[in-house]
Parts: sequence; C-alpha cells; structure tokens
Amino acid sequence: MIYLDHLASTPLDPLVLEAMLPWMQPGAAGNPHAAHAAGWRAADAIEEAKGEIAALVGARPGEVVFTSGATEANTLALLGGLPPGGGCVVSAVEHASVLGCLPELRRRGHPVAVLPVDGSGRVDPADLERALTELPGPALVSVMAANNEVGTVQPLAELATAAARHGALIHSDAVQALGTRALDMEALGLHGLSLSGHKLYGPMGIGALILRRPFRPVPPSAGGGQQRGLRAGTLPTPLCVGLGAACRLARQRREEDARRVAELRDRLWRQLCRRLPGIRRNGAAEDGDRLAGCLSVTLPGIDAADRLLDLPDLAVATGSACHSGAGEPSHVLLALGLSAADAHASLRFGLGRGTTEVEVDAAAGRLADLLKA
Ligand code: PMP
Repeated sequence: MIYLDHLASTPLDPLVLEAMLPWMQPGAAGNPHAAHAAGWRAADAIEEAKGEIAALVGARPGEVVFTSGATEANTLALLGGLPPGGGCVVSAVEHASVLGCLPELRRRGHPVAVLPVDGSGRVDPADLERALTELPGPALVSVMAANNEVGTVQPLAELATAAARHGALIHSDAVQALGTRALDMEALGLHGLSLSGHKLYGPMGIGALILRRPFRPVPPSAGGGQQRGLRAGTLPTPLCVGLGAACRLARQRREEDARRVAELRDRLWRQLCRRLPGIRRNGAAEDGDRLAGCLSVTLPGIDAADRLLDLPDLAVATGSACHSGAGEPSHVLLALGLSAADAHASLRFGLGRGTTEVEVDAAAGRLADLLKA
C-alpha cells in the first residue's frame, strides 16, 4: 500500500507507541483522578503530557483540556463558547465539525457570519473586520490554521489582530498545521485551539482544546467534574501520554519533516504535470501559504473517485472524501470557485513523515497509467 493520505490520518510513530505501551499493561491500572499511589502515578504522566502539548502550541499546561479528538474540541469551543446573544464568525472552508455547529447556533438565536475565501482558499482579514463591525454584541471567531483539503494556511496573526480590535475571542482549528508549522497561541493572541492525536503521528481517539483566558466554554455534559468540569469523564492515561509524546516529537521534527515533505510534494507535482497534461493545482501558490504535505489537484473531465477504485493499493483522498463517502462535492473546493464537476475531478495527496521518493514516483506512474488508459 502506498499511503498518501496523511491529512486524513497519520500512522502512529513507533516512539509514541513505545511511550504508550507501559500505560496499557495490566500493572498500570489506576484511575488518574483517584487519591492513591497508582492514581497519582497516572496523574503525573498526564501532567507531563499536558506540558508537551502546551509547549507545542505556546500555551500553559493548565490550559489543556483533553477531548476525544478535534471534532469534540471544535464542538465544545463553538457550541459552548458563545455568550448569550453573542455572534459567531467562521470561514467557508472550515471542517465539518465547525460548520456543523452553525445550524444549532442559529437555532439558539446567535447571529452567524461565514467569511468567503479567495481562489486560493484564503480569508481576507478585511472581511473579518467588516463582519465584526456588523455583528451586534460580543463575538467568537473560529478560523482554521490550515485547510485539510487544499492545504492553504490562513493569516492567523492578522485575523487575531482584527478580532482583538473588536474585543472578540478567537479560536483556531490547528489540526493540520501543527505537524509541520510553528504556532504560538500566546504570540498570536489566540484564545482557543483544537488539535488531534491522529493527525500528529499520535493515537486516534484523543485530542485537545486549549483554552486561554477569558475563553471558557460551557460544557454540554455533567459528570464527575474532571478537567475543571470542562470535560467530565475519566482520562485515558495511555492516550493522553501518547498525545504528549506525539507533540514532543512534532516539536523536535516539524522543521525537518516540513522541508523533506515539501520536497516530495513538489517532486510529485512535477511528475504529475509531466504525465498528465491539463492537470491543475488547487490552493495557495506560495510555499509559505500552504501545508508542506498537501497537494490538491484537479484533472478536468475525470471522475477521480470512480477511477481510484481501480488502484486499491494507493491511498489518496478524493474531492468528496472528507465527508465519509457522502459523494457530495467538497464544500472547500466549491468555496474556492471550482465547479461541482471539477470538485469531483479532484484528488488530494497527503504526504507525511514516512513517505519516500520511491512511493511518490510509483504513485505518479500508476495514476498516470490508469488515467491515460
Ligand atoms: N479539523 C480538521 C481540519 C480536520 O482535518 C479534522 C479531521 N479530518 C478534524 C477537524 C476532525 O478531527 P478528529 O478526527 O480528531 O475528530
């Protein structure tokens, strides 16, 4: 299998697995919230993990709230984060876990603004200024750090400055950015940030919402009051430790990963261009404005999803893949201005830490052979 779908999920790094394994042994039993030695040991390991997570994003350990993943983190931030009567501003290219909150916010009477993006997928900070001027009352802004379908990086610093000028809180879904880009919540002035273990070579089923004052969403569930009541439930020690280890590795490796993966992405693009005339690239043109590991392309006239079925040993995402096989054209590609037909003719390659030149060359060759046939 040639796995070029790292934006959907990254394989577990062996060092992360190694860090987790001791906490999965029978001898490691102990509720991390319990008041005895076994509980304290687990609680200490979780505290250490929070330190690693906080260090990756420029926050403090006490600001980390574990969740089951970024979907839950985004939902808690948006559905729990609006003050009564407060407005919400998001971009048109947010993940479904953000956009999916909007109907409920509207139902509750919150004004909602959805910012357009340009042809590369970028939000214009002037549009945020305008939206915040028009919204009555306090607002929560949520704009992702980098897009999961086309890799476009958003101008978070300018967006945070605009939010601050209007006294709005700003949250960012940073799931895709953290593996290859530095991001400092304190320096940027972000109040909330979502991340996910399985996009960072960590375990599935764990993520975090980082909350900086004065952002304090109201949780949907009651329970044992764990995590300062923000997300009740016993913390899964092995997963928390794994997320911590993944964040430590990301901090150590992100520069090297970004450089290597961007080279492979460009190599893949050159090969596809040579073999498939008419192919177009989606997203930002400049290296600084796009994710190292993402290459989104359109092959006009080709039903990508359909044809890919003939390449079962190549894992690549299609223009509708992010909606778990729903078959709808991607809302992201449509927001960039692509037609529904072109969105269906699009593929997303997600390159990662383990990707090799041999794999990239083989993927380009097999795709070209298939699509030309
Ligand atoms: N946000 C973005 C940008 C994503 O790419 C994803 C995963 N596709 C999510 C949120 C959801 O993350 P999780 O799988 O951890 O719920």
